[in-house]
Amino acid sequence: MGDYNFDTIKVRGGYTPKDHNYSVSVPIYATASFEVGEAERFERLASLSEEGYIYSRLSNPTVSVLENRIAILDGGVAAVAVASGMAAITYALLAVAEGGGRILTTHQLYGGTVDALKKLYPRFGIQIDSIDNDGGAEEFKKAIKEDTKAIFIETISNPNAILSDIKEIAKVAHENNIPLIVDNTFATPYLFNPIKHGADIVIYSATKALSGHGNVIAGVIVDSGKFNWANGKFPQFSEPYFTLKDLNGNERSYIDAFKESAFAGKVRLDYLTYFGAVLSPFDAYLILLGLETLSERVQKQVSNTQKIIDYLKTEEGVSWISYPTIETSSYKSLADKYFSKGAGSTFTFGFNGTPEQINKLINSVKLFSYQANVGDARSLIINVAKTTHGELTEEQLKLAKISEETIRLSIGLEDSDDLINDLKQAFREAFK
Ligand SMILES: *Cc1c(COP(=O)(O)O)cnc(C)c1O
Repeated sequence: MGDYNFDTIKVRGGYTPKDHNYSVSVPIYATASFEVGEAERFERLASLSEEGYIYSRLSNPTVSVLENRIAILDGGVAAVAVASGMAAITYALLAVAEGGGRILTTHQLYGGTVDALKKLYPRFGIQIDSIDNDGGAEEFKKAIKEDTKAIFIETISNPNAILSDIKEIAKVAHENNIPLIVDNTFATPYLFNPIKHGADIVIYSATKALSGHGNVIAGVIVDSGKFNWANGKFPQFSEPYFTLKDLNGNERSYIDAFKESAFAGKVRLDYLTYFGAVLSPFDAYLILLGLETLSERVQKQVSNTQKIIDYLKTEEGVSWISYPTIETSSYKSLADKYFSKGAGSTFTFGFNGTPEQINKLINSVKLFSYQANVGDARSLIINVAKTTHGELTEEQLKLAKISEETIRLSIGLEDSDDLINDLKQAFREAFK
């Protein structure tokens, strides 16, 4: 399937109707468990010498189609779908820094991620180093320490749509024998392919533009298959485990058992299986439906975004706009280098008014919904500092370049004139 182009894969990838009673649409396998058939077969399944299903906490045929489709779209060797974007981030970061160590990241991340990294990870023996991300790789190079286990960044940051020089940052990571893990939620594989530019692990909140209809909470971890986990820094991948026995009873490591997809194998058999944030087959089905129109949706959202930004540039109530493809953005050259199809449909602007007027603006929009999500088919507006990034302290907000006046828009699939008129009348109301 990897020989086909993106739009073919997003509709058909990872699925063979012949294997599913010739069902054209991917069936929802609503079953907790699977008949094994015969005792010898259980041993073959458990030792991974035969592919098949045992129990839906480990794997499920509907979920597998989604995992395979996204792995192909991203150019990875395997993917693991989980019950939320937060579960995807947690499992990936714990798997890489298991046993202790440091994660190097930036101040510009999704609010929930910032708070989890600061508050929870140190209690699991994982320290976090956060730097200011001006897009370049030099700062990362300086901040890597002896026990740094990974670099973690968002390819387009939440909320300000800040970009990073992925290729250069990947180079720094690999020079230090550590993987680059990226959260590609805002970009989706349609706008940006991180693996092609050197990322080792790609994470999605599939809740957002990947599914695109605001009807599911889900996450995905994609394994590029390219990182060398046997380099001495990651014993959790090369130590033999009792549960990874082959048919003859010999214990194996994740690298022995899964070869180039050792990371995905470990995330599935340790983290998904034992920490248990499983995606339901019904939710996998909803995401598969959403994926069928990924390119068409994101294209229209990007073009709507451009039109709305053009209007906001003329709006007196707007003091600045943070979107990487506009001429004044310091990320314009990175946008030109990496985002030829656009830099997503979420961005921020500064509202030139009092806190009361911000509330008035939010209360006056009729089409834009006031809610904490992005990438939905419907357009959304939110005052970031009080909501999606409300967990951040005053200092963290400053480091993340978020202020009281920061308004985030996520542009949907509505008619762009209707959206612009809605904002226009809300600005008029706010300044009345
Ligand atoms: C929403 C979001 C998450 C968290 O995903 P959930 O599916 O809500 O758990 C992580 N990263 C980014 C960039 C997000 O926008």
